[in-house]
Amino acid sequence: MYDLIIVGGGPAGLTSAIYSLRAKKKVLLIEKMIPGGQVAITSNIENYPGFDSISGMDLSTKMFMQANKHGLETVFSEVIEYDIKSNIKKVKTNDGVFEAKAIILSLGASARQLDVKDENKYIGHGVSYCATCDGNFFKNKNVAIVGGGNTSIEDCLYLYDIAKEIYLIHRRDSFRSEKTTLEKVKTLANAPNPKIHILTNSVVKELKGNNNLDSIVVENKITKQTSELKIDGVFVAIGRKPDTELLRDVIELDENGYIITDENMSTNIKGVYAAGDVRKKSLRQIVTACSDGAIASFSVNSYLATLS
Ligand code: NAP
Repeated sequence: MYDLIIVGGGPAGLTSAIYSLRAKKKVLLIEKMIPGGQVAITSNIENYPGFDSISGMDLSTKMFMQANKHGLETVFSEVIEYDIKSNIKKVKTNDGVFEAKAIILSLGASARQLDVKDENKYIGHGVSYCATCDGNFFKNKNVAIVGGGNTSIEDCLYLYDIAKEIYLIHRRDSFRSEKTTLEKVKTLANAPNPKIHILTNSVVKELKGNNNLDSIVVENKITKQTSELKIDGVFVAIGRKPDTELLRDVIELDENGYIITDENMSTNIKGVYAAGDVRKKSLRQIVTACSDGAIASFSVNSYLATLS
């Protein structure tokens, strides 16, 4: 029996782990892939205080090592069922059932799909949701990046030294990304013989090819004109959706599937807390995920004190 089970080893979960372990709690982290979550696949981070610039993999490794130093136990497995309404919280995974007095859900979010015909067919054959993971497969090739948020803009910069031509395709004419990074991309796109081409008010209508992607059809939403671009790879960076499918009938979620908490990270179930991107909130950043994680850990400590 653990004091606390943390599900999800991104910055929120790892911060909770560090705080709870330092409070001498017995903590288990359950992570389905690699520690760091979305951060681990972010190429370069320039807005996490204390680091002018650090790769996502380095930052998440540092967080994981710090938690390990304090005695973190980790199980790398996928959760298949939650039984968390009663006092003993049970988490069923592919590798067994684990029990704790409290639980923090820091499940993060996973990539949203374009919802274009044959998208699934081309995954791994031209369609990717992670430029830092798959970018190197497209050396000197033509790529498109879809989206207008921070991920799409950072992907542009990451792929700049790898790809031949880059088409940034965004459905509106204004971007929601951070302005400093956007300016860097716009400067490159406005240079003579640019390698980056920005297509605004545009959407991907079709993916074409045989075994591998060969081209995409893009529609300008205003003129309704379509054009076919010779493209080897499409990086879809259109946001993420929370990984809360298993919690749908268990816990209170908002209309988009995000977990609803109060400012103490408490959910509607006693002893169950949520932290990070999986939570309904206005700003999803590494620093806000860490903040959530610290608060959730503090709330767990207060809750555990009421049990003894
Ligand atoms: P995001 O901020 O939600 O942006 C998604 C983009 O995709 C938006 O521009 C959106 O268009 C567009 N979009 C959504 N659905 C679409 C569809 N079906 N077809 C075409 N376009 C679509 O997602 P993100 O860039 O992945 O970022 C996720 C979160 O992580 C954000 O909070 C972001 O700030 C954070 N992040 C931070 C960093 C960093 O701090 N260094 C790096 C990466 C990500 P509209 O603008 O029209 O809605």
